[in-house]
Amino acid sequence: MGSPRGLPRVPARRDQRPASGAANPPRKRVKWRCRIKNYLRRLPEKNRRTLRRRLLAWYTKNKRDLAWRRTRDPYRIWVAEVMLQQTQVPTALPYYARFLKRFPTVGALARASDQAVLKVWQGLGYYRRALNLHEAARRIVRDHGGRMPDDPGAFGRLPGVGRYTCGAVLSIAFGRPLAALDANAVRVIARWLAIREATDAGATRAGLWRAAETLVPDKTPGDWNQAVMELGSRVCTPRQPNCRACPVRGLCLAFARNLQEKIPARRARRPIPHIQVGAGIVWRRGRILLCKRRADAMLGGLWEFPGGKIQPGESAEACIRRELREECDLAVTVGEHLIEVTHAYSHLRVTLRCYHCRSARGRAKALGCDEARWVRPERIADYPLPAADVRILEAIRAAAHE
Ligand code: SF4
Repeated sequence: MGSPRGLPRVPARRDQRPASGAANPPRKRVKWRCRIKNYLRRLPEKNRRTLRRRLLAWYTKNKRDLAWRRTRDPYRIWVAEVMLQQTQVPTALPYYARFLKRFPTVGALARASDQAVLKVWQGLGYYRRALNLHEAARRIVRDHGGRMPDDPGAFGRLPGVGRYTCGAVLSIAFGRPLAALDANAVRVIARWLAIREATDAGATRAGLWRAAETLVPDKTPGDWNQAVMELGSRVCTPRQPNCRACPVRGLCLAFARNLQEKIPARRARRPIPHIQVGAGIVWRRGRILLCKRRADAMLGGLWEFPGGKIQPGESAEACIRRELREECDLAVTVGEHLIEVTHAYSHLRVTLRCYHCRSARGRAKALGCDEARWVRPERIADYPLPAADVRILEAIRAAAHE
């Protein structure tokens, strides 16, 4: 039996690894140091000062008026930084407002249940971020008297706080001169320094971090980090950067060498797998079976219509019967086809083939999941569900009204 409904267990993303545990293998250090030196030599100190001055002046005049820029509350800044990883600003805005209305302080978040946090986060994706934020809030209350630590050692040890989050939150909220290197900043700095190596390669990334740390000013480091990211999201965009409107084009090596469309380079990506999954809408006495995904699995803590990966040569119906037996020790009769839902994650695509099923008897046991519950259809929306299951629920409601 694999992880629930065939989705793989995934390691923490690079940024979710502890900030303090970023030790590099010693044998690679010499190579990294050479490369770092080379990158920085491309931008002498005099040019760095001009770059800072021009970019900060541009940012002061052009920055967007965003909710998290109107506060100095470290908790609110932290929530924004976590939401903005993997999420565009317009998408994050309503979630940010809802989240803070429901959990206005770190204490309120610490007191909430996992399920309440996931429900407010529902639709934003990358749910591990929400669970880490929640666990970190609990530790802040337990170990720091409810006050956000302003020390990179203490803050960086909290779950989900990687090097980026640590630098962004502490520089913006506490004025700590720390770098924050997100995808926008990577692109901008790689272009300033005309770095042609793949920016997702370890040695290049180490060089970029070093360059970012050198560039961050002692005064207003938070504004600086936001200015770099703002430039990346509004002017120095991945395709067709608007160099004519760029306040620092006179100092940008990529612009001078006409390389802006070639940078950043990335390593060749592996093709994204597409998996086929059978999912059962299992009915009994007017209720539908929901399973809670295991905490350590992808989408951990969310509830779903049970099922799993279709094996080679297996039909969706046979898969559903097998998965229900393995996951819940339940015998089901597979009936009418309901819907096919395809959902794309960052690293895989999943097509769910959904069928109505009936289960006459037997207790649903949580063998391959954390919990199994029979739920009235009108109460399913109270549970935190993955985006694909929200679409299945909409199909169930539509079918009921036909
Ligand atoms: S000049 Fe063009 S490539 Fe260089 S930082 Fe500005 S927008 Fe980006």
